[in-house]
Amino acid sequence: MTDALFRLDGRAALVTGASRGLGRRFAMALAGAGAHVALAARDLERLEAVAAEIAAIGGEATPIVMDVTDRASVAAGVTEAEMLFGPLRAVINNSGIALTQRLLEVTETEWDPVIDVNLTGAWLVAQASAKAMVAHGQGGSIVNISSILGQRTNPGVIAYNAAKAGLDHVTREMAAELARYGVRVNALAPGYIETDMNRSYWETPPGKALMGRVPMRRLGQEADLDGPAIFLASDASAYMTGQIIGLDGGHAVGFI
Ligand code: NAD
Repeated sequence: MTDALFRLDGRAALVTGASRGLGRRFAMALAGAGAHVALAARDLERLEAVAAEIAAIGGEATPIVMDVTDRASVAAGVTEAEMLFGPLRAVINNSGIALTQRLLEVTETEWDPVIDVNLTGAWLVAQASAKAMVAHGQGGSIVNISSILGQRTNPGVIAYNAAKAGLDHVTREMAAELARYGVRVNALAPGYIETDMNRSYWETPPGKALMGRVPMRRLGQEADLDGPAIFLASDASAYMTGQIIGLDGGHAVGFI
């Protein structure tokens, strides 16, 4: 009986930034739980490769080209997802970019794209998804992918810190406004998760030193994402909304 709580069989899901990294893994996890997943990002070729991986494990997924900073592109993507798979029930709002910026020198040219993708883009996806969920009336779950840096600082990434802090509060605000429609909005706040993009850093002395201070003394692995993502996307978390859930080996609690 409890297993059924975590199933997403036949439900339409949307994962943004699904072409690689965490988004690819979120998409595979939801498909593994039975969801029909619309894979959104800008790079069709990469999305097709992820769709093929999901098909190979018996899952159902289709690429959708979407730029999350473009309202029309987001709206068209949500419509396409519903045309393909029916009422949208779960969204992993994952697209993001990071850019190192020195506080005293950061320019608007460096600041703007980070805010555009991580905050404005995430809000556009969450808003369009929420509109679809309110319209179909079956409820749904929106999972915003934040970061531990939404709640604590890290020098050199001021725009990213600000965007993720903003996304945390967008999450709370949306949760409060949408609860009456059966739409839940939570955030996952990962610490450091090993991906193709950052793997080489963790082999360097500073990377190893940083990881040596995280309470669990290890990097997060992509497999660590599966349980929290399925939990928040499914009815297993039916009475949870407006929460920012850490996924960080104890990192946000403090270095020890
Ligand atoms: P990544 O760079 O590997 O993937 C980012 C994804 O976002 C890609 O699919 C990319 O195409 C997509 N994207 C970027 N701009 C886009 C746009 N304008 N429109 C549509 N898609 C766009 O990064 P990742 O490490 O997989 O990170 C995924 C999410 O997890 C991000 O929101 C990131 O902030 C968050 N996060 C990652 C870590 C980590 O350790 N990897 C830690 C905390 C939070």
